[in-house]
Amino acid sequence: MSRPIQARINLDALSENLARVRRYAPGSKVLSVIKANAYGHGLIRTAGALSASDGFALLDLEDAVRLRQAGFGQKIVLLEGCFSSDELHAASRYSIDIVVHCVEQIDMLEHAQLEQKIGVFAKCNTGMNRLGFSPSEFPDAVSRLEKNANVSDIVLMTHFYGADGNEGVTGQMEVFGKFKLNHPRSLANSAALIRYPETRGEWVRPGIMLYGSSPFSETSTQGLGLKPVMTLISRIIAVQEIRAGDGVGYGPIFRAGQDMRIGIVACGYADGFPRHAPNGTPVLVQGRRTATVGRVSMDMLFVDISNIRDAGIGSEVVLWGEGNPVEQVAQACGTISYELLCAVAPRVPVSYC
Ligand SMILES: *Cc1c(COP(=O)(O)O)cnc(C)c1O
Repeated sequence: MSRPIQARINLDALSENLARVRRYAPGSKVLSVIKANAYGHGLIRTAGALSASDGFALLDLEDAVRLRQAGFGQKIVLLEGCFSSDELHAASRYSIDIVVHCVEQIDMLEHAQLEQKIGVFAKCNTGMNRLGFSPSEFPDAVSRLEKNANVSDIVLMTHFYGADGNEGVTGQMEVFGKFKLNHPRSLANSAALIRYPETRGEWVRPGIMLYGSSPFSETSTQGLGLKPVMTLISRIIAVQEIRAGDGVGYGPIFRAGQDMRIGIVACGYADGFPRHAPNGTPVLVQGRRTATVGRVSMDMLFVDISNIRDAGIGSEVVLWGEGNPVEQVAQACGTISYELLCAVAPRVPVSYC
């Protein structure tokens, strides 16, 4: 027997979530976002389950080349573009598209003599102030790209900062709507493509919804017709009976108000469970809802099993996933599901089903 923790990835759920994206955005092509090791789900297996995508978006050239070598023929886009002219040449050789977000990247394209023309996603900064040309620079940047002999085609791109919250997309859509540029558009992440039909354009860029997590704090995964993909599972490896006034684990964050049964679970922050998870973070033990107590240690955490009589050593614990939505666990921890999913540590065995 090995340590009982594992991340179970439901590949059918991935394909079904992609089908769900298509129902939300029937007129758009889908660029599935698989950055950060496919949000922690495993690059190649995830891409395989999402092979009905029209394209993939990620960050590292090496990962893009791995996809090509594994036989994926779809569009592949590097979301931060190239960092050197060597990368640019390799991207061209492997027919990998690039985001172009700054003048330095245009200069690099103009100075290169590429083996093959390259597809470009020209990115405009419409208010997020992260990557992209300012709205005043954007038309000139696009016109330089249009004249560039290395460029095969151009997609106009921006990214929303508030599609999941109260800010919405109106201001950014207004900025973008002013351009008189005749190219396909790629604007929408998951939240935008679900909530704002006007953002869908020719290419949508869903990430989190493919992994079966809701981008909205007020709408559940099921409410959106999505299925959770990753279930992080472990087991109870020890039980402690504690008395009123006793603590558990490091530091003073928990004192029992009454006698309690505590399950010690083989999952800690070195597995990717957040150390800052407070008392009361939801978990499932043998399918029953309960909560963590005490501070998460490197390899273990504590759950209250006082009211789950038949729970004991060997009982299955769902840290997040099926029956215990990752966005609720994230919310309890003051973060978002994205961060939990991509933080699952390499030491956690992944099983695909
Ligand atoms: C990560 C990312 C996405 C996907 O966002 P989700 O909120 O996960 O749908 C889309 N576009 C860009 C540029 C991204 O960096």
